[in-house]
Amino acid sequence: MRKKIIAANWKMNMTCNEAESFLDTFLREVGQEDHVEIVIIPPFTAIAKVSERLGKVQNVKVGAQNMSAQKSGAFTGEISAAMLRELFVRYVVLGHSERRTLFGETDEVVNKKAHAAHEASLKPIVCIGETLEQRDAGKVETVLETQIRGSLAGLSAKELVETVIAYEPVWAIGTGRTASPEQAQQAHAFIRKTLAAISDQSTADKIRIQYGGSVKPENTTSLMSQPDIDGALVGGASLDPRGFAEIVKNSSVD
Ligand code: PEP
Repeated sequence: MRKKIIAANWKMNMTCNEAESFLDTFLREVGQEDHVEIVIIPPFTAIAKVSERLGKVQNVKVGAQNMSAQKSGAFTGEISAAMLRELFVRYVVLGHSERRTLFGETDEVVNKKAHAAHEASLKPIVCIGETLEQRDAGKVETVLETQIRGSLAGLSAKELVETVIAYEPVWAIGTGRTASPEQAQQAHAFIRKTLAAISDQSTADKIRIQYGGSVKPENTTSLMSQPDIDGALVGGASLDPRGFAEIVKNSSVD
């Protein structure tokens, strides 16, 4: 019932030329994969090029890595939701751990951005996840619950269903260390339980929860076979068009 969603977070990689050449190879390799929704999330500067190239390609959408909570005005260096919509962006990543750690984004900021995204009909991919220190201290559930309640506060049931949650344990991002399928499933089940607590069970059952953290072609199937894992947010491995196509294909499991 929940269509899997596999997203490529390119971070600060890929010029326009590199993005074009990635798409040539990726689209050829992935073929007509329509069991899975695919999202390409380039840096801002390559969004227009990627959107143009994907214009007629169904099932591959464009995302952004961040946006401002403000509509317009004197916010030098910022990009608004309307500017993204104009470039046919459908998804926006909010609260990635790199934004939280390196740029001081709090749950409150993520929450403001989530409301601004929905107002502009952009679907947020809200990232949450614990550090290794928090996991070792037995605080995984407390951390996840605080992030969920803070980042999603005030969203309606309809908006929650249009929101994607990305569970990204910080210790697994870019480290080559992946959560085991069981560890990830346990966190995802807890996230769904918390989503039900802030809304209701039927709403929570419709929300897609991605796993992120060193996803690669070899570990995709075992992760995606877990009942509460509805897709992946892929960083490093999404820069290789053939590898990313393999991840997409390996995700097509029920
Ligand atoms: C990410 O940055 O969202 C991510 C999951 O990175 P990686 O796949 O490289 O761990």
